[in-house]
Amino acid sequence: MSEMQPSVLVVEDEPAQREILTYNLEAEGFRVIGAETGNEALMLIEEERPDVILLDWMLPGTSGIEICRQIKMRPDLRMIPVIIISARSEEIDKVRGLETGADDYVSKPYSILELVARTKAQLRRSRPATVGERLTYADILLDSETHKVFRGEHELKLGPTEFRLLTTFMEKPGRVWSREQLLDRVWGRDIYVDTRTVDVHIGRLRKALSRSGGKDLIRTVRGAGYALG
Ligand code: CA
Repeated sequence: MSEMQPSVLVVEDEPAQREILTYNLEAEGFRVIGAETGNEALMLIEEERPDVILLDWMLPGTSGIEICRQIKMRPDLRMIPVIIISARSEEIDKVRGLETGADDYVSKPYSILELVARTKAQLRRSRPATVGERLTYADILLDSETHKVFRGEHELKLGPTEFRLLTTFMEKPGRVWSREQLLDRVWGRDIYVDTRTVDVHIGRLRKALSRSGGKDLIRTVRGAGYALG
């Protein structure tokens, strides 16, 4: 399964709640990862780097609030949007939840449709291409809905792999991606592809991007990988 599909980590200790969330989020095209406890959640966040985290406040052991605090203190994780789900509906609890750096707060009982909508709203920031947003960087425009790419006035012809590579770069300009991370994201983690294949497709992407004479915007970071800009 290609990692172009957005992923959401659902941290909820009640199996019935977890199941209903999983069912509804999968129906909306998410890859759902489930965790029952705070410690399991922290491990999965490290391993999977989900695009959005739905976090129940009341968990056995480490609470959702504490997990959120830990995520938001980590420079490499703090950009992942966190939605706190809580049975505590008091305004003061909502404020406490948001003060830990949570991006949104939903109280139980919640409407599943509303929660899915709020999850998508967070995704619009963290993985804009997966919800059909247009991405721009310098003079490049990428329309993820029509799969068209323009540089200035010129439409560029990209192969499917180059299109996914460019989408990945344009969702996070400046981020350095290792070859392994690009393989996971663009080819999918179940497929065996040699890391040199990444270099081949980066070469094709560079060629396509500079065909109209613009400067090379893909940076090779020695010993690390590639970045846009
Ligand atoms: Ca709970």
